[in-house]
Amino acid sequence: MSVPLLDLKPQNLALERELTEAFQRVLRSGHYILGPELERFEADMARLLGVRHALGVSSGTDAILLALMSLGIGPGDEVIAPSFTFFATGGCVSRVGATPVFADVCPICFNLDLADVARRITPRTKAILPVHLFGQAADMDPLLALAAQHGLQVIEDGAQALGATYRGRAVGGLGAFGTFSFFPSKNLGALGDAGLLVTNDETLAQKAALLRLHGAKPKYYHHLIGANFRMDALQAAFLSVKTVRYAEYTEARCRNASDYTAQLTPLPGVQVADPAQCGCSLSVGDSKASEVRLVLPVAYPHNQHIWNQYTIRVPGPGRRDALRAHLQAKGIGTEIYYPVPLHAQPCFARELALPDSPSGKFPFPVSDRLAQEVVSLPIYPELTESQRAEVVAGIREFLAG
Ligand SMILES: *Cc1c(COP(=O)(O)O)cnc(C)c1O
Repeated sequence: MSVPLLDLKPQNLALERELTEAFQRVLRSGHYILGPELERFEADMARLLGVRHALGVSSGTDAILLALMSLGIGPGDEVIAPSFTFFATGGCVSRVGATPVFADVCPICFNLDLADVARRITPRTKAILPVHLFGQAADMDPLLALAAQHGLQVIEDGAQALGATYRGRAVGGLGAFGTFSFFPSKNLGALGDAGLLVTNDETLAQKAALLRLHGAKPKYYHHLIGANFRMDALQAAFLSVKTVRYAEYTEARCRNASDYTAQLTPLPGVQVADPAQCGCSLSVGDSKASEVRLVLPVAYPHNQHIWNQYTIRVPGPGRRDALRAHLQAKGIGTEIYYPVPLHAQPCFARELALPDSPSGKFPFPVSDRLAQEVVSLPIYPELTESQRAEVVAGIREFLAG
């Protein structure tokens, strides 16, 4: 039996009749961009996330871009973002003409290391852009306190964490803006590109809505230089079909994650990451590291993790790649999120080499190490019990070999 890393078909084909009805409704409405389908979806998202304003946009990337533009961030400004994340988080900062300043992450929760963020703040810093990576919230209370202390804006990249909570509050509404993605592989996936921008601030919401439409109000009267950041009515209609099932999808992901953890923990050399070591980069050079052959991800008690990825660490030179090859040979799909941290990407090399670059000033030991050690296992909601057993068996064999 093969176990793909991700298979979108079982989820979407199970909804074929409703998705087809949604398509026909939009087709016959003659209204294909924004409009009532999107407004309904935006209201559902605002309710789910407990925010005042939710704006459907063209992608998760464009949501970040729109947040930065709405805050007036541009040339001469610095924005601190994690090095260990998807490219868009850093790329958008460069696209508005500002400078992305990369910070290292925590090896336990994979999110921003706040001590490292603090030492990279300069008089030019305008914002912090935390990512809730793999579906688990970053440590927002101390991050918001640090931002407030320095007068910085906070934009949450929640692309992988729609509906995840931090101390009982949904992520996305904690900073000035929250951004989400409905890329098909995200926890709530469209049948194409789509994204969401949320905020509790009325003025920022109005500015973002204006920028989403080339800054025009009414049409052809341009107050600001925006762009086309609109969502299609079709994607909104498809997403509405799936939104009512979203809690079930999340529950299935959580079940898959706890099943992996329960079955893998007893294997020799396997340990669950220790939340007590959060933010403690020392655990990287842990004295018992040589006995640890596999580290499982952990959901912190104060977080509701939504498991966009179940990402394990395989310490030891070449071990991660050997595990991947072993699983691949058995038809089990895995992926490396992410093989190259942003600070090591060629497109940022010139910027990092500048004499006062706050990114270049300090090293990234955790991000560098994670890029060598992480591998993500299949976790999608429709994964069956026998498929999970197959993955566990593959890992057991590898550890015994
Ligand atoms: C997917 C993702 C994005 C970008 O979303 P798109 O909809 O693909 O543009 C941004 N940040 C993170 C962390 C992501 O995982």
